[in-house]
Amino acid sequence: MSAKLIDGKAAAAQLRSAIADEVTKFRAATGRAPGLAVVLVGEDPASAVYVRSKGKATIEAGMESFEYKLSADTPEAELLDLLDRLNADPAADGILVQLPLPAHINANKVITRIDPDKDVDGFNPVNAGRLAIGLHGFVPCTPLGCLKLLRAELGDLSGKSAVVIGRSNIVGKPMALLLLGDSCTVTIAHSRTRDLPAVVRQADIVVAAVGRAEMVKGDWLKPGACVIDVGINRLDPAEPGGKGRLVGDVDFASASQVAGAITPVPGGVGPMTIACLIRNTFVSAARRAAFRYGKDL
Ligand code: NDP
Repeated sequence: MSAKLIDGKAAAAQLRSAIADEVTKFRAATGRAPGLAVVLVGEDPASAVYVRSKGKATIEAGMESFEYKLSADTPEAELLDLLDRLNADPAADGILVQLPLPAHINANKVITRIDPDKDVDGFNPVNAGRLAIGLHGFVPCTPLGCLKLLRAELGDLSGKSAVVIGRSNIVGKPMALLLLGDSCTVTIAHSRTRDLPAVVRQADIVVAAVGRAEMVKGDWLKPGACVIDVGINRLDPAEPGGKGRLVGDVDFASASQVAGAITPVPGGVGPMTIACLIRNTFVSAARRAAFRYGKDL
């Protein structure tokens, strides 16, 4: 392997510790802790794991965690009522509803109901619009984490050519807008992109957010490129050599021979996603209390 490993776990630990320091000052100044309300509907095991780790990270940062676990058959109206109550609750600085939701609930309606100024996931259309036109709002945690890793690795991103593979509302599109905001020349690739390897080969920065195990190969990369692998894919345990391993969207073995720097899976983007959720929750509390904090969060 010739690429430098980008240690997302260490970067996330550093960010979380910086936030915990600010939370201590916030509590002393305001007499209360920032709070995050997390709503889980149904019993999806992966979602339950995510909700548990978000709650744990919130408490470790010195903040309050409020968990609402609703049964899978909860009517949509009941969920919307809960969100109205949380929107009005001064103890909830951040609100998030764990996705995916059961099929009878309209996720867009739910996301839109969260007060944009408490929408720490950054999925509300108001926050998507703010990001698009360069206003302060909340940026989705995964792309924000990727941007932080890229800035820490490369410094000024201005003028670099970046390819984002994937155009989802929660990763690809906001990622492209963040890179554009840092003055990269951005290409967004997706399932209809022609000759994807040739497109990727132009890029100084590659962000892969596809959901296809080990799709991006080493020979797709420009030598020295910085590669951020967002993908989380569990290999089929029945597959030879698979053993249920967790892999990214990038073929790490070949890509790490060509890239200049690369994130591992696990231990790359994943930990930064949670750290950025904690960051957004603290920022929400600070904005609401007009509390001044260090700018480098
Ligand atoms: P989506 O399924 O919503 O989007 C996937 C995107 O990849 C789509 O835009 C799709 O294109 C594109 N795509 C699919 N196949 C190809 C292909 N063969 N070539 C090029 N593009 C393709 O996924 P998400 O954005 O939600 O997530 C992407 C990955 O990131 C997943 O593995 C997910 O598990 C992971 N993830 C990780 C997080 C973390 O914290 N590390 C957080 C969130 C997601 P089209 O639009 O044309 O269909």
